[in-house]
Amino acid sequence: MYQIRDVPGKGRGLIATHFIPRGTRILSGKPTITVPEQYVKLDEYKQIAALISEHVDTLNESQRQEFLALNTTHISSDEAQRRFEIFRTRSLPASDGHAAIFLHACRISHSCDNNAQKNWSENIKRHTVHARRDIEKGEEITIYYMGVRRKREIRRQHLQTHFGFICSCGLCSLTPDLGRESDTTLEQILSLDNLLEQDDGYGAWFHPLRRLRYVDQQVRLYNEHGSDDAIGPGYRRSIFPVSLGSLMGLNDRIQQFSLEVEGTRMCHGCGAKATSLKRCGKCLLFWYCGKDCQVAGWDNNSHKADCKLLKDADLRSLFTFDWETFLDDIQFPLGVSKV
Ligand SMILES: [Zn+2]
Ligand SMILES: [Zn+2]
Ligand SMILES: [Zn+2]
Repeated sequence: MYQIRDVPGKGRGLIATHFIPRGTRILSGKPTITVPEQYVKLDEYKQIAALISEHVDTLNESQRQEFLALNTTHISSDEAQRRFEIFRTRSLPASDGHAAIFLHACRISHSCDNNAQKNWSENIKRHTVHARRDIEKGEEITIYYMGVRRKREIRRQHLQTHFGFICSCGLCSLTPDLGRESDTTLEQILSLDNLLEQDDGYGAWFHPLRRLRYVDQQVRLYNEHGSDDAIGPGYRRSIFPVSLGSLMGLNDRIQQFSLEVEGTRMCHGCGAKATSLKRCGKCLLFWYCGKDCQVAGWDNNSHKADCKLLKDADLRSLFTFDWETFLDDIQFPLGVSKV
């Protein structure tokens, strides 16, 4: 699927040998050297450097050569320090609180508009890399080195300080105007992330709609950000077929007209409360006195549009799902609910 080749100006990188569709697992690798993450951050690096160097000595010849070839821009004449620098700049997260060298995954270059996604999988105890958008034959496979997406200046500074290179990826090379636009969008996405984080834990239980709004807004921003193709089609997805605002409106109408309160329901056509209404035969959610009220609801009270939306089994299930009793995560498709 890929070959390790020289990439001008970057050292060696992974190049796709054929078209890789989004979602494909590109590689999964076992750790070659594993060290507690906190060690790598310590100021007293000499001991750690010695420890890592010892690990490197235990590798077989070809592994050692591959490790040493993980290029780093910190050139040191001290062999232990050089090995430490390779580890510090190229290692990836592994099992709880550990950093590790994965000979292939660690060779993947950084790009701020990365086409692949790295992830430590605790289940299989391997580091996996998946295509986060379609990757063309001959394209370099890239991942994102930093944890959080930040604006250009901060990104570039961080990459230079911690990884020793100046990023010249598609996003970093945008014209000043487009760069500013991208920065503004990223900042908005980030502030929504912060809001979601503050909310974490019980937030999902107490403010599910608020969280949904944040996420919906983020998806919209990602879509906008991707519109110049810098981010790629991977982000172009939407959660719902309509805007969240319209969805909330529909939810309000369902609450008002679908639920039975003390044996009566409200007619969606005329608003009268009655015990013997007939429901819409298509969506089964709205109730009417008779034909005239149904026509009124259809033509004047937006049921024409609502009823069409409610044909979607997942969407309809969202409104009819018994949220009070569910204990675990729910998965789409929810399937057709029994009303
Ligand atoms: Zn960049
Ligand atoms: Zn009526
Ligand atoms: Zn209907």
